[in-house]
Formats: sequence, structure tokens, C-alpha cells
Amino acid sequence: MTTVAAYAAPAAKAPLERTTIERRAVREFDVLIDIKFAGICHSDIHQAREGWGQAIFPMVPGHEIAGVVSEVGPGVTRFAVGDRVGVGCMVDSCRECDNCKAGLEQYCTGGATMTYNGVGRDGEPTYGGYSEKVVVDENYVVRIPDGLKLDEAAPLLCAGITLYSPLRHWNAGPGKKVAILGMGGLGHMGVKIAHALGAEVTVLSQSLRKQEDGLKLGADHYYATSDPKTFEELRGSFDLIVSTVSAPLDFGMYLSLLKSDGALVNVGAPEEPISLNLFSLIGGRKTLAGSSIGGIRETQEMLDFCAEHGFGAEIELVRADEINEAYERVLASDVRYRFVIDVATI
Ligand SMILES: [Zn+2]
Ligand SMILES: [Zn+2]
Repeated sequence: MTTVAAYAAPAAKAPLERTTIERRAVREFDVLIDIKFAGICHSDIHQAREGWGQAIFPMVPGHEIAGVVSEVGPGVTRFAVGDRVGVGCMVDSCRECDNCKAGLEQYCTGGATMTYNGVGRDGEPTYGGYSEKVVVDENYVVRIPDGLKLDEAAPLLCAGITLYSPLRHWNAGPGKKVAILGMGGLGHMGVKIAHALGAEVTVLSQSLRKQEDGLKLGADHYYATSDPKTFEELRGSFDLIVSTVSAPLDFGMYLSLLKSDGALVNVGAPEEPISLNLFSLIGGRKTLAGSSIGGIRETQEMLDFCAEHGFGAEIELVRADEINEAYERVLASDVRYRFVIDVATI
């Protein structure tokens, strides 16, 4: 066991504070990672404040982890000391179900082991990336290509793959009109990735406040959803809409923006159930769908894709003692576009 410094929420809704945690000794197939940077994801806040139900405390959040391998177990074949690596939302899964075998570990029917606020297959609680080191089985570790800076790569491990996976699955590419709903940590990655895939990209945001950024990051068009004219003008326009919004939406309105056979895919999740008039799907054979992060193989593919196209996330680097303030700013949508913790400051 190794004792490492970390930032943890001691109880639900309590501010995060500096503490220490134990990391297990490296096992046969484990790698020990010196964490350099950890992104702050909106879901860290949902979980630390029990917005999604009962959680495990103390909680060390963080599932956007970028670092360097400092030790490998004797059975490790894919990584060596000094490699630049990342860890996302999962650190294990059953490895036997159809989804795991298909590389869709995020949909493991045996339940994937989450990077934090989870319990490992050894029965021990998992702790996330707001800490100096982490020990992870090599099968749940990905390589960060040299072309990507580690701090800008960290948010790709959740925000990046959360957008990449549905954009690929629903065939965003040349000749396709794609709308990204919401221009935050997730949305800004959606704009970059959809643009790099060759799609015609429209941002649908509450206001035009971030229009200049959106166009700079690759959007072709930018509309305010607070303006009713937007819904008249864009009626029947899109092949695909990816919603990153976790506030309640009028889904009927957004479905009306799809072409026939179009899909509205949710990666943001409102805390309350929704109600929907199904005629908004029936007229036009439309799909309302959801998508969760991506598998390990696809996460590696996404990192390689971002490196090839020369982009990471747009980030604001913060010190560990600024985490609580950063949480408040995330809740106020006052971040462009992802906070990343410099782990050297823990
Ligand atoms: Zn996340
Ligand atoms: Zn499985």
C-alpha cells in the first residue's frame, strides 16, 4: 500500500478538503500512474453532492486523469515506465459479458467499476483523480499520444469520449448536418470533434454569449435557443442533434428540428423524468436516444483522432485549493471550457 495526498469530500455537500488515501500495491497486471492533471467534470459535482442518489464517502472525485506510468506489474505488456497515459470513467468491468467482449465496457451487464464512488471487484472503494497517484489494471488504461498536451488531454477522457462515441455511432461526417445542444465542457468538445469528422456543425445555445468561441472551435452556425425564431428557421434541418444539457428540455421542440430519420441523442441527463408526446417521433420516424461515454478501445481511437487533428480541450488550469470555487463556477456555467487541476498543487 502507498499513502498519497488527495482532495476528498468527507460527506455529501461538504466542501472538498486535503486528505490522504491508500493506493493498493501494484498487482500482476497493474500500472501505477503518477497523476499530473485531473479534469473537473460536472458529474463530479452531482456525485459529491448526491444529486444522483446515495454515494460513498469520503469521495475523491475525478475521472479525467492524465499522468505518467511510474511502475508496472510483472504481467503488464502494453505499458512501460515513463509512458504518458490516461484513465477515464471506468477502471474495471466483468470482461465476460457480450458488451465487454464487444469493447463496450461502459454497458457491462455485470456493472463496470467506476473510477470513483464505486467498489472494485476486490471489494475496496475506488478513489478518483484528485490525487497524486492511482493504480489501474492495464486493460483500462489508454495511451496519450505525444501530440497532445497532458493538461489539455485530461478532459478528453470523459468529455471527449462522451461526444466522440455518439458522433461516430450516428455517422456524423461529410454531408451530415449536426447540432450540438449546449456549449459547455461537453458541448465544446462536440463542436471540435463533429467539425473534425467533416460534418456541418450548428451550436444551439441558450444565448449568443459564446458565439465567437463556437465559430472559432469549428461551428458553421450558431443559434440562440432563447429566440423562438430559431425553432421556425431550423425546423427539419438536422440529421443528428447531440444534447449535452442536463436541465429539463422541451423535447418535442428539439425533435421538430430533425429531418426524417434523424436522431436526438442525450449525453446530459436531467435529474427528473421527462414527458413526451410520441407524435413528435412518429411523424418522421425519428429516434430519441442516449449514449454513455465509450469503451476502452474507442477511447484510445478518440485520443488518436484528437492528436491527429491537433486539438485537446479548451481548459482553465486551477490549483487544488481552488477546487471548491471551481465547482461553484461550473454550476454558474462560468468556465471556458473545462477546469483542470494541476495535481502538483495537491
Ligand atoms: Zn465526466
Ligand atoms: Zn461485462
